[in-house]
Amino acid sequence: MSTAHIAEQRSPEELRSLAEQAGRDFEEADALDVLRWAAGTFGHRFCVTSSMEDAVVAHLASRVFPGVRVVFLDTGYHFPETIGTRDAVEAVMDVEVITLTPRQSVEQQDAQYGPRLHDRDPDLCCALRKVQPLEEGLRGYDAWATGLRRDESPTRAHTPVVGWDEKRQKVKVSPIARWTQQDVDRYIAERGVLTNPLLTDGYASIGCAPCTRRVLAGEDARAGRWAGRGKTECGLHG
Ligand code: SF4
Repeated sequence: MSTAHIAEQRSPEELRSLAEQAGRDFEEADALDVLRWAAGTFGHRFCVTSSMEDAVVAHLASRVFPGVRVVFLDTGYHFPETIGTRDAVEAVMDVEVITLTPRQSVEQQDAQYGPRLHDRDPDLCCALRKVQPLEEGLRGYDAWATGLRRDESPTRAHTPVVGWDEKRQKVKVSPIARWTQQDVDRYIAERGVLTNPLLTDGYASIGCAPCTRRVLAGEDARAGRWAGRGKTECGLHG
């Protein structure tokens, strides 16, 4: 690790003020500049989170911060293609993939709560298999990057490029918040970025297998997530 990547630990007040200032400074900035700022400011107290739908943000981050940590949440319910994408990212990109797992295996959860909790209480299932492990996994970081985009759904339309994650008391960076799907597609094509093979099989947004279906013509990208269950987000970004 170079000295440039050893960052001091800051108080929540300092972090909040950094987030607010950067939110103003970087609203119109290029994604690479946003990531360069995050890497330079937080070093390895900054990480990228990835659902392994594609590796766009991890790829961007590795260009300005080789060896950047990429955090992946393995819920135990992923499609094999998603795990394969994680393994490929780890093998070919200059990043360190960190896989977080829930406290309980699927079998242990089934024994305690009954099978198919995702059908009966998806909020609880997401809390146990996504929100809690991410909470714990992000403890060593001051700032995290996501691939959230404003054009993905109405719930994401106001995603800040740099914002304050009040719940976790961390800086939250969404360097491609202003990108469109066309921008993403162009970057993937130009740079040969790894993508989840399900993206070319009718899936526009990829989460856990029991809670993800293909999207229909005219639906927004996230319409295939928890379809028919009145749920649009897993709680990671609430
Ligand atoms: S997306 Fe579905 S299976 Fe995955 S954690 Fe949430 S409810 Fe459970």
